[in-house]
Amino acid sequence: MSDPKNPVALVTGASRGIGRGIALELARSGYSVAINYAGNHKAAEETLAACTDAGSGRFAAFQANVGNPQDRSRLLSEVWDTFGTIDALVNNAGIGPRQRLDITEATEESFHEVLDINLTGPYFLTQSVVRRWLGTDGDPDSVAASAIESGRKIVFVGSISADAASIQRGEYCVSKAGLAMAARLWATRLAADGIQVYEVRPGITETDMTSGVKAKYDALIGEGLVPQRRWGTPADIGRLVRAILDGDLAFSTGSVIHSDGGFHLPRL
Ligand code: NAP
Repeated sequence: MSDPKNPVALVTGASRGIGRGIALELARSGYSVAINYAGNHKAAEETLAACTDAGSGRFAAFQANVGNPQDRSRLLSEVWDTFGTIDALVNNAGIGPRQRLDITEATEESFHEVLDINLTGPYFLTQSVVRRWLGTDGDPDSVAASAIESGRKIVFVGSISADAASIQRGEYCVSKAGLAMAARLWATRLAADGIQVYEVRPGITETDMTSGVKAKYDALIGEGLVPQRRWGTPADIGRLVRAILDGDLAFSTGSVIHSDGGFHLPRL
């Protein structure tokens, strides 16, 4: 059952980077956090320790590949068994292609790998959580529709790559463009059920994902590619997600919230 003092958020890909930033900010604000990770147990333990230090809620780490249907199902069972509920789902886990290759060279294998994790995973993880919330998954422990409390929320962590075409990682751009529509679809479907859905759209953010292109992006940011002339940080996204989960955007759903230092602004 939900505890209003310590609502439970499941954050996928919370062992490192933006997901860790979100988990930490939620911990500081009193949330209990289910910390999902793919394989980096040590990093997940670090996030767990940092959340425990920072917060008053409960915290636990759960290994699961969000691109794998069996793992998703096990993840939800384990989180529900541990916390008794989920009040918010933050679909953050994502990968870039293992190799940045021009779209004339990139492989179908890489396309499927990226789409499975970045799009199919969050799409169907959301479906499974929603079926529990709506009481339509046949599980007697699910929360019946009549018991739905306003306040449940879903966040998709998208990317400026939903709009900006990077021909060296086409599969990533396609996955994030698809995720943008997934957020709109779920927002439309769930609005009348009192469940709000958002896409948070980070720009160039300093994490392991961008460490290999740091020098390139340092130069571009210096030249004004990002109007605010700095890298984004996991804490930037963490604060944004916390505001969403706190209910500060009360009359919004399906919104795309940019956190990119103005990158998306058309300029002349
Ligand atoms: P990151 O530093 O590479 O961290 C990725 C996180 O996702 C890790 O916790 C990793 O777990 C987890 N993960 C990877 N594959 C997974 C899977 N199959 N199942 C479950 N978890 C998985 O990446 P990031 O930069 O923080 O990116 C987080 C999200 O923000 C992604 O969706 C990314 O597309 C998006 N984003 C990033 C940027 C940027 O500039 N960094 C910009 C826009 C959007 P392990 O530690 O176990 O590997």
